[in-house]
Amino acid sequence: MDLLILPIATLKDNYVWTVVNTKKKCALIVDPGEAEPVLQYFKQHDLTLCGILITHHHWDHTNGIAGIKKVFDVPVFAKQKSIGTVMVKEGDVVMINEFLPSYHVLEIPGHTLDHLAYYNEDSLFCGDTLFAAGCGRLFEGNAEQMYQSLQKMAALSQDTKVYCAHEYTQNNLKFAEQVEPANQEVIERLKQVKLQRERGLPSLPSSLGAEKATNPFLRCELEGVIARLEERVGRRLNKAIDVFAEMRKWKDGF
Ligand SMILES: [Zn+2]
Repeated sequence: MDLLILPIATLKDNYVWTVVNTKKKCALIVDPGEAEPVLQYFKQHDLTLCGILITHHHWDHTNGIAGIKKVFDVPVFAKQKSIGTVMVKEGDVVMINEFLPSYHVLEIPGHTLDHLAYYNEDSLFCGDTLFAAGCGRLFEGNAEQMYQSLQKMAALSQDTKVYCAHEYTQNNLKFAEQVEPANQEVIERLKQVKLQRERGLPSLPSSLGAEKATNPFLRCELEGVIARLEERVGRRLNKAIDVFAEMRKWKDGF
């Protein structure tokens, strides 16, 4: 397949990831928080929309659905009936047509309880759960759920490209630097991302390999990270989940 995956920027810092078959001119999108920029892009590039994947129910990921469906009446894949037209759950495979890749569904509660990820051997669309160098806030789930959800994604192939729903990377790396001041890969990545953002380029996609090296929320088992969090909270943290929970609280106020 001749595929291109590109971001359509919407709202303040959301990306609507768009998977395009450049020969067939058909595409799928993930999490349209707005209709207009998406419809404009499709018109400009003479593309046909064939399906919509939804990671979770938040408005900045779903508000565009109704407007887009007026132009392209396509299936909308989601966990909840109130949002999608096709309900999906962990273990399902989303197949839109022969011209677009198929995706496995993972349930990754934490940020919300209905949160899904879609992945194949090349790509992971993870909404607001895994961010480049960070993770989503705990709005509906608890720290343990979020921790397990991140572990699930971290277990996929290291080369998997990570397509997050927001451009938060630079701020996340500044936090990562606070957690691991001596992590050279964090320092290097922060420099790179700063340059990309100055040029107006997205910092995404990331890769699972890069996340494992620089994302503090995937590094809660490391001695240095545990020590840093213990120093901060002034008590022993015996489990990785406790380290994760304290790190998430720290980031909330960062
Ligand atoms: Zn969200």
